Amino acid sequence: MSTKAAKRSAKQKPGHRAEETFRVLISHQRIRTRVRQMAQEIRRDFPNDQIHLVGVLKGSVLFLADLARELGGEVSFDFISVSSYGKGMDSTGEVKLIKDLDVSIEGRTVLVVEDILDTGLTLKYLLRLFEERKPKHLRVAVLLDKVERRIADVKADYTGFVIPNEFVVGYGLDFDERYRNLPDVCVVRLGPHGKTKVDA
Ligand code: 5GP
Repeated sequence: MSTKAAKRSAKQKPGHRAEETFRVLISHQRIRTRVRQMAQEIRRDFPNDQIHLVGVLKGSVLFLADLARELGGEVSFDFISVSSYGKGMDSTGEVKLIKDLDVSIEGRTVLVVEDILDTGLTLKYLLRLFEERKPKHLRVAVLLDKVERRIADVKADYTGFVIPNEFVVGYGLDFDERYRNLPDVCVVRLGPHGKTKVDA
């Protein structure tokens, strides 16, 4: 790649900190198209049900909002918050419930909406919790799946994109609470003095 092209593909973003650069991994246009396809698949599987979306805060918020608009029919939302990551880029492996659901899921068609499936430990914890509450159907939609990182034996019913083991931000995903508002999913690099999974 020429130096000019390299500069274009690893740009700094508004609100960036010194030396943080970004490479677009999945453009907003591709995300929109794929989210629409996923919504069609989900609606085809449950044509007459009210689909109760359970978003995992906070990363799933933009995905859930777009998916909900594409689903059509009856849709309701709830949110749960768990902690699985600290402030940096590495998982502690520990999952803790921070905020539970507001309403019962018993007898409902529940779709867990997750931003990204990494080790799978968060999803495993959530599925165990939700199964005990006796939903009519329990399904999972994830926007991104880092298949090669999986530790827990879980998989999503609906997957947007399988991605390599790189730390991504944007479209709801953060790095220390920043960059959730980027429209594209980007790989973030910290530069020569920082260390990321990408560079490690
Ligand atoms: P898991 O329990 O599957 O290892 O992790 C799931 C959670 O880790 C996701 O919901 C997300 O919050 C966080 N996570 C995993 N990989 C990434 C990543 O590449 N970027 C960001 N921003 N968060 C990630």
